[in-house]
Amino acid sequence: NGGRGGGWGSRSGGWDGRVREVNPFGEEEETEQPFSEQENSGINFDAYEDIPVETSGDNVPTPVNTFADIDLGDALNKNIQRCKYVKPTPVQRHAIPISLAGRDLMACAQTGSGKTAAFCFPIISGIMTGQPAQRPPRGAHTVYPLALILSPTRELSIQIHEEARKFSYQTGVRVVVAYGGAPINQQLRELERGVDILVATPGRLVDLLERARVSLQMIRYLALDEADRMLDMGFEPQIRKIVEQMDMPPPGARQTMLFSATFPKEIQRLASDFLAKYIFLAVGR
Ligand code: ADP
Repeated sequence: NGGRGGGWGSRSGGWDGRVREVNPFGEEEETEQPFSEQENSGINFDAYEDIPVETSGDNVPTPVNTFADIDLGDALNKNIQRCKYVKPTPVQRHAIPISLAGRDLMACAQTGSGKTAAFCFPIISGIMTGQPAQRPPRGAHTVYPLALILSPTRELSIQIHEEARKFSYQTGVRVVVAYGGAPINQQLRELERGVDILVATPGRLVDLLERARVSLQMIRYLALDEADRMLDMGFEPQIRKIVEQMDMPPPGARQTMLFSATFPKEIQRLASDFLAKYIFLAVGR
């Protein structure tokens, strides 16, 4: 587990390194490549130069051209290689330096643009290099994730969890997913083993919060993926409850990234309510 990221012993869940980490790349990842060429076909790297990018806000950090231009640490770099990511996509080029600089971000980007890595890399890196987690108060079954990723559907949550597990392989950072439409018991068991990054759908998370199985008191990073879709699905009350009415630290005391394909009034309102002095980024048209 590398001993970074603040000591598993101080965590609530009892994930102490004795639990064997399953290799998300498959058993023989060094010889057998888990990623086929097609897996990255969603991204047309040749069209990069033509993609319009707009940023606004104070002191926008300079975008990077390569992953090597950013210091993500050895473990994360190795996982980027295992994923066969050669160069960052436009949203990654801009969003990663913004988040690593500690800034809040409102990003307009389409599905398939590489958003998942854009919010996962800074979160994983931040957890690894950040302050050790405070010992949580002794509460029966409550766990205290350091990062929360909200996503609209079970499918998307599963997908983000799978990606995040690859990115966090051998970093000591543990990712757990919780979504509705599935029995809660196995998700509870996974949570009890410890959680740094929780990927969740809004309804299931509200359930976990009401049962006091999860506390958001220690959240340092909040990412909302496909926020416009979450609002279209009627999740605004649940999202506001999670972000504003439970025990999550307020804007400024946490770092927030809001991703949406579109930027209508309702998303603009979420942005002004959830983000502090944010940078606006629009990729594509
Ligand atoms: P989004 O979250 O925006 O919908 P994903 O992050 O799922 O998009 O990325 C779409 C696909 O492109 C995934 O298969 C992902 O693994 C791949 N991908 C993401 N970033 C890169 C990159 N820098 N280089 C190569 N492939 C990438």
